[in-house]
Amino acid sequence: MTGVNHHDMNTKNKYVILKALATKGALPRNELSVLSGLSKMAVTAIANEYMEQGVLRECGELSSSGGRKPKLLELNPNALLTLAVSIDREMLLVGIVNARGTILRAEHIPFRQVDTNQILTDNIFYLCDMMMQDPLSRNFWGIGVSCVGPLSIEEGEILNPPDFGNIHNLSIVSLLEERYHLPCYLQNDMCLAALAEAYYGRHSSMRNFLYIGISSGIGGGIILNRKLFTGTSGLAGIIGHSIVQMDGLPCTCGQRGCLEQYSSITAIVKWAREQSGDDSITWMKLAGGILEADSISQRAVDRMAEYLYVAISNFQAAFDMEGVIIGGELYGAKDYIVSNVRERLQSESLKWSYRRKIEVEGSSFVSDASFIGTSALTMENQLGR
Ligand SMILES: [Zn+2]
Repeated sequence: MTGVNHHDMNTKNKYVILKALATKGALPRNELSVLSGLSKMAVTAIANEYMEQGVLRECGELSSSGGRKPKLLELNPNALLTLAVSIDREMLLVGIVNARGTILRAEHIPFRQVDTNQILTDNIFYLCDMMMQDPLSRNFWGIGVSCVGPLSIEEGEILNPPDFGNIHNLSIVSLLEERYHLPCYLQNDMCLAALAEAYYGRHSSMRNFLYIGISSGIGGGIILNRKLFTGTSGLAGIIGHSIVQMDGLPCTCGQRGCLEQYSSITAIVKWAREQSGDDSITWMKLAGGILEADSISQRAVDRMAEYLYVAISNFQAAFDMEGVIIGGELYGAKDYIVSNVRERLQSESLKWSYRRKIEVEGSSFVSDASFIGTSALTMENQLGR
């Protein structure tokens, strides 16, 4: 939205209104007033301003038993667009995501073709240039970048993620800001997956939760009081490196006994191959085997869940969360893992009369949570700080 000034005295109030419409969909003014704690007059003033700018629009009315029917307001789906960039070990994905978390456009390049600083940058520019030629580009309000960590959020830099080709110390934020003259925000992919759950997920009503993403490694993101909590040095949520076994298996981080060495897909496939002597075992085979009640698949995934339970239980003792959301590349095994971990945690909580029963749920997204989360990242940074 060219010319929209989001940084005036009302920024905080605007954030509350826009976030409610982004996360809950169409709402009448009186409900926005209740949700935001703002007077109806204040809501109407903000709504009018945003309607003039094309950010909001009226979209029908609620039925009413008498008197005037309240009109519903919604975000214009083509307003407040994020130029979304996602970089992981599989692919580079660039596209357009709207404030409701809907992907309007996406193009990708396999990561193995872009695994040096220069080639990655050239290809990000190539795909972003393509998006800038889209007529929707006039409604970009920021660029959101998701990347595997470690990152320096303050410096806007990708540091030295392990097993990430030759990519290291890449100042991605300044490169993108200089080229496109849009504010750019960088965040760890797992934190963005957590933020996507908090904004657009089925379980977004939870105020406090831990997101765990399981793939070749294990990452996580923490939502505290509906906000992303990144810790003192931006590393909060790296639950894959919580220790679940004293003097256990060595980890790439230098510690021993990290969760990642027991419950990641890499770890569990290695374990299943060792146990069975069958080197043809893959994660797809194990995940499929669960559905067919295959013994080695069940033992492997039970083991995975057992260590997850230990890590979450320790985390829960410190944070007293409402819930845990488990996502990542679990495919057919997701429901089994979620219910297995849920059972262990909930039976544990029964032993503590005053401890709440923690919710354990599967992710609302297949594999695009981090990409979608870039839209929430833009809103948080533009208005929510
Ligand atoms: Zn570790």
